[in-house]
Amino acid sequence: MAQRQLLRAINRASILNAIKAHGAIARTDIATFTGLSPATVTGLTAELIEDGLILEKTEGESRGGRRPILLALNPQGAAVVGIKLAEEHATLALTDINADILAKHTIQLGPRDPRSISLQLASETRDLLAEAAIKTNQLLGVGVGLSGIIDSQAGICRVSPHNDWHDVPFANLLADELGCIVTLDNNVNTLTLVEQLYGAGQQVRDFLVITTGRGVGMGIVTNGAIYRGSTGGAGEFGHIVIDPDGFACSCGNRGCLETFVSEPWLMRRAELNGLHVTSPDDLIALAYADHPIARDMLMAAGRALGQATANLVNLFNPSLIIISGEGVRAGDLMFGTMRATMARHMFAPLAEKLDIRIEPLSEDIWARGAASLVLSTIFSMPTLH
Ligand SMILES: [Zn+2]
Repeated sequence: MAQRQLLRAINRASILNAIKAHGAIARTDIATFTGLSPATVTGLTAELIEDGLILEKTEGESRGGRRPILLALNPQGAAVVGIKLAEEHATLALTDINADILAKHTIQLGPRDPRSISLQLASETRDLLAEAAIKTNQLLGVGVGLSGIIDSQAGICRVSPHNDWHDVPFANLLADELGCIVTLDNNVNTLTLVEQLYGAGQQVRDFLVITTGRGVGMGIVTNGAIYRGSTGGAGEFGHIVIDPDGFACSCGNRGCLETFVSEPWLMRRAELNGLHVTSPDDLIALAYADHPIARDMLMAAGRALGQATANLVNLFNPSLIIISGEGVRAGDLMFGTMRATMARHMFAPLAEKLDIRIEPLSEDIWARGAASLVLSTIFSMPTLH
């Protein structure tokens, strides 16, 4: 890219990010916020309106004169499909430029070979688009999130334990079926991305996302970028060792964090403790009804999580930790205990400016995250290659 074009693309992205961060913002405030000249802002916002990415609103508060014209993202500026590929099922969501869901399908997955899955997802994507009267060529792209080790750049699933996939070029398989761009990433990274683009991680340079539920996962943002490690496997937080003499984990190790915190392991421990519960929700309900064993189990999980997370704080010095995933419904018994344990073990100067947020339970966040894989191309800063 020539230097002039590059500068222009960077300025466009920084204007779009300022608009996204504020919801609706006047041109003069964009200039202040981005440090661009008013003339540049006027020129580039005209171009962005022409491209359909932003639109004018007149909802601003009056500053003693006429109401200022505000600029906002045009929800119709992009249509994207985000797919969460889980163990037994997949959730497909059609979203707008804000990653807000317009339509959603959840399907049971058939045979697990890559070809069958890509055919099933392609067919379901076409149905979703047909219902919303959107043509494939109007789609900006499809994002797919799944657990495992993913080379996002190459669109290759290196390892997916659920599907027994090794080095599967899944992005290409699905792209060939659909005839549009397909982006692939680890599902916790997609969740991290949606927090960075639209959630609590906006404008935060260094933050961590920890997910609990079926497993324990982690997304890492350092210096404004997702850290993936040398082979895409960074953030296997669930498999750090808490107790070397503990239970044998599916990864081959012993006493991993997951064996204390994940829902399948909570169920197993409940059984070993003689509790008759049929689901994690049962166990949680019992704990909040003051059953001492159930309470102790959630608190022990919170302690293990807090101890491990304190180590993360000492390593990464984040300003924000976001806790998300289905496991958040374990509530204060687990996460209050986590906070208290962290407070005891963190290196004190790093704890001072640290914000910890427990996100509300949201089934949709994963599909929104997968959609963000594609939406991020609108907002990311171009660089010289
Ligand atoms: Zn493990």
